[in-house]
Amino acid sequence: MELEFLGTGAGVPAKHRNVSGLALKLLDERNAIWLFDCGEGTQMQILRTTIRPRKIEKIFISHLHGDHIFGLPGLLSSRSFQGGEEPVEIYGPVGLEDYVRTSLQVTKTRLAYSLKFIELSEGVIFKDKQFIVECMLLDHGIASYGFRVSEADHEGMLQVDKLATLDIPAGPIYGKIKQGQKVTLSDGRVIDGKDFVGSSKKGRIVTIFGDTRFMEKSSQFAKDSDVIVHESTFNKDEAKLARAYFHSTTQQAALIAKKAQAKKLMLTHISARYLAKEAKELEEEAKEIFPNTQIAKDFDSIDIPFS
Ligand SMILES: [Zn+2]
Repeated sequence: MELEFLGTGAGVPAKHRNVSGLALKLLDERNAIWLFDCGEGTQMQILRTTIRPRKIEKIFISHLHGDHIFGLPGLLSSRSFQGGEEPVEIYGPVGLEDYVRTSLQVTKTRLAYSLKFIELSEGVIFKDKQFIVECMLLDHGIASYGFRVSEADHEGMLQVDKLATLDIPAGPIYGKIKQGQKVTLSDGRVIDGKDFVGSSKKGRIVTIFGDTRFMEKSSQFAKDSDVIVHESTFNKDEAKLARAYFHSTTQQAALIAKKAQAKKLMLTHISARYLAKEAKELEEEAKEIFPNTQIAKDFDSIDIPFS
């Protein structure tokens, strides 16, 4: 499980920061990429990574501002040219389906695969054996959402080699052993399943916020996240501006991470006003509140390990 930042800028593309785009790479978990927002130029950014567009299984769009969606029709079209045949699920606010279908229609673009649109609302929007994705409505003037992606816990693996060395033959008995039961073998030996199952691992949690003003309840939504990705359009002294423009400051984002007891905070949606040196200062001021904060740069890639 890895996060790769494709665009970390706010509003308009800058030389050193493209507009919003973020890939959650689930290659080991499901051989798939989930994309969060798709600003203009996202497909060009993807060309500079190892991401293959045909592996994009789901696309989550936080809100309909142009810097988060102008890259979507182009990406979908290129994915078709590049041999993508698997369907794509697109999760977004009301209006996204119109925007995408109209763009494809007026440009006479035919995709070699099908699109399924899922309109966002608060609560669970996707669930399977591996992952749950939940949504929270944010405060951004237009409907904007945050996504909490929770992985199911990994059960401990049955230690088959160890069973084999004790000459315990494979069969339905393995199922009982895996459940940690005490089992009597046909030769009278009694073994404890617990001795033959590796330790289980807690599933990881990643919470990705769309553009928003500071919201008190965001920390609850992001509770215990391994990584929180939050916008940070303004510096700590610009809380009034942030409020006026429906955005957040560095320290507001840091406060959410602190209250959520998250492990790591990645700040994104950085204004082009801040060059490398100033961006470092943004990072420092966030760290005053939440030490494990990093200002994301385009193409930063972070691994999300099991704890
Ligand atoms: Zn926005």
